[in-house]
Amino acid sequence: MTVAPAERAPREAAAGEPAPALRIELAEASRRLESASPAEIIAWAVERFGDRLTMATAFGPEGCLILHWLAAIAPRTYVFNLETGYQFPETLALRDRIAARYGLEVALERPETTVAEYERQHGGPLYRTAADRCCGDRKLAVIRRVLGRFEAWMSGIRRDQSPDRAASPIVGWDGKFGVVKISPLANWTKARVWETIVREDVPYNPLHDKGYVSIGCAPCTRAVSDGEDERAGRWSGTAKTECGLHSQG
Ligand code: SF4
Repeated sequence: MTVAPAERAPREAAAGEPAPALRIELAEASRRLESASPAEIIAWAVERFGDRLTMATAFGPEGCLILHWLAAIAPRTYVFNLETGYQFPETLALRDRIAARYGLEVALERPETTVAEYERQHGGPLYRTAADRCCGDRKLAVIRRVLGRFEAWMSGIRRDQSPDRAASPIVGWDGKFGVVKISPLANWTKARVWETIVREDVPYNPLHDKGYVSIGCAPCTRAVSDGEDERAGRWSGTAKTECGLHSQG
């Protein structure tokens, strides 16, 4: 069971740059943890930030793997999913499977409006005509609200997923949200993630067995063919490659 942070006052957003001492500490920790295992990185984050640490997951393979370790290290960590209202039923069912397997309930953090209200306000779905605005309203505004209650967040990004993620440190300052960001799988490969999932029998999204590689909201995700880029199925046919959670600026 995760700890609901409802009683916590929103933290004063420390947007922009971290204090110099924190910057040095993070750089040193990141260097040291570059050769650590993901479980050791998670344990460091739990020890350093305690209940001021949170984790966001879209239930991708990396997120499921981190939850596998986190459940053994600090199962009361507040873990959340950005429930845009557009996710696949298989993704939401995976949340239940993870709860059954680990006793770890991932909170669903929702936007202010339901999908029906949002589409009524805008005369239809914005993902077709203004995907950046849709991600901004249904993901970025929500994660900003949640991270305002914490000092550090963990994510499952890997450096080799995309050029945007290639320089991701293990531990660094996330200037976009004014918090520390920890990426325990930053230097892992996709193959290593899947080998571990299979070996440890970690629950994963069944859509991965149907050609879906990177899975986000249903209207903006398609299966990919052999040889296509890992994220080619996201916002396919448009120039958009990221929802904005992991890009700076
Ligand atoms: Fe909207 Fe698509 Fe972004 Fe989901 S991924 S929030 S449906 S634009």
